[in-house]
Amino acid sequence: MAYQAIIQQIYEKIKAEDNIGQAASYIPQLTAVDTNLFGIHLVTKNHQEYGIGDRYVKFSIQSIAKCLSLCVAYKLLGSQIWKRVGVEPSGTAFNSLTQLELDKGIPRNPFINGGAMVVADMLVSAFRHPEEEFLSFIREINGDNDISYNEHIVQSEKEIGYRNIAICNFIKSYGNLENHPERVLDFYFRICSIEMTCQELANTFLFLADDNFRNSKGEAVLNMSQAKRINALMQTCGFYDESGEFSFTVGLPGKSGVGGGIIAIFPDKYSIAVWSPKLNEKGNSYRGMRFLEQFTTQTESSIF
Ligand code: GLU
Repeated sequence: MAYQAIIQQIYEKIKAEDNIGQAASYIPQLTAVDTNLFGIHLVTKNHQEYGIGDRYVKFSIQSIAKCLSLCVAYKLLGSQIWKRVGVEPSGTAFNSLTQLELDKGIPRNPFINGGAMVVADMLVSAFRHPEEEFLSFIREINGDNDISYNEHIVQSEKEIGYRNIAICNFIKSYGNLENHPERVLDFYFRICSIEMTCQELANTFLFLADDNFRNSKGEAVLNMSQAKRINALMQTCGFYDESGEFSFTVGLPGKSGVGGGIIAIFPDKYSIAVWSPKLNEKGNSYRGMRFLEQFTTQTESSIF
């Protein structure tokens, strides 16, 4: 497959079009980014790498990191985690309080904010040093010690985090948090503040495309059944209230974040990261969605 030529041709086409949308502004620190940056990186199961544009520039992966914290909790605690967080698309905003009340403090899925907070709570209980353990998990996957939290983003989120604070306290009031909400939120904001380049992101998620993937210690990240379930959740819940649209137009499991990043997985073939900070009105990268739609069409690489 001529991945490089196809990536280049679609990139140039989209680059020549209007860059529509807005960078997320509710986290003040995210507005400091140049909204014209646009990068793509693909890595195949056989470790062939292709890409273009600003693929070596670090950006805030935000909600994409929720997949990784979920993998850590799932690996560590197994299927009992599904008693405290659901596996259904939410159909409402990722920070909805109404739905949380209807669901009595059991968040609809692990990718809405409440769900990711419950997962963060599991890790706070399970580890003595959750922040260090979580980073080690990621660094062991791609062997890159340069991946880290961004303290400015953490502070920025804390300063304006009124709704997230409300969500976390709300869950606590239903008894679905073991730890103090402040401790959970602190870890949650840190998880969201992880920075990666498109190259790092694509390599970090390769384990979901390759059943034989081993981390730097020679261990499997998840077993096949667990990886299947994470891909299924990414397919049904990975794009806020636009997950159906992503399935419909792109046809791959994936996850986006308000930093403008998207990771998508073609099981058994490749993982691909796209980053462009301007978001459409559903909160997904405008150029990222357009790129992936055209890419999976031209390469005929949808799972459907
Ligand atoms: N840290 C962001 C928040 O809690 C995550 C948003 C996202 O990427 O979905 O609002």
